[in-house]
Amino acid sequence: MAETENSPTGDYIQMDKMDWVPFPEGLCKGPIRWKLLHVSPEAGAWTAIFDCPEGTSFAKHIHMGPGEYFLTKGRMNVRGGSTEGGATAVAPGYGYEACNAQHDHTEFSEDSEFYMTFLGPLNFIDDDGNTIALVGWQQVYEAWQAATGG
Ligand code: ZN
Repeated sequence: MAETENSPTGDYIQMDKMDWVPFPEGLCKGPIRWKLLHVSPEAGAWTAIFDCPEGTSFAKHIHMGPGEYFLTKGRMNVRGGSTEGGATAVAPGYGYEACNAQHDHTEFSEDSEFYMTFLGPLNFIDDDGNTIALVGWQQVYEAWQAATGG
């Protein structure tokens, strides 16, 4: 991510020059890594790419706003996968997740990678629906700065 705050004139990231960092513990199972590419405070939007080895998954969450993804590598089961009424994305695949989509299990059955833009925060919840962490552009920005020493 750029070293300075976002410029209204735009931003450019050379993705292969950025290091992966571990995605925060408690929000996923297994060694998921990510790169935060952009935050747009004015729109409440943020964009990241995720590296998800076989067997990893994200913790239960609700998308407070819609999101779009591009699975560039591997296979991702969303909302239980296609056998349970959800989607099984196979690279190269595009998906749209609606506002208030609840994802109890987002699982990777092989080494995968996906790019996603989120509008609004993710509400990570426990099994009783209580918020564990509300993760929006500000929280990801702070987590990224902390992880990269930026
Ligand atoms: Zn999700």
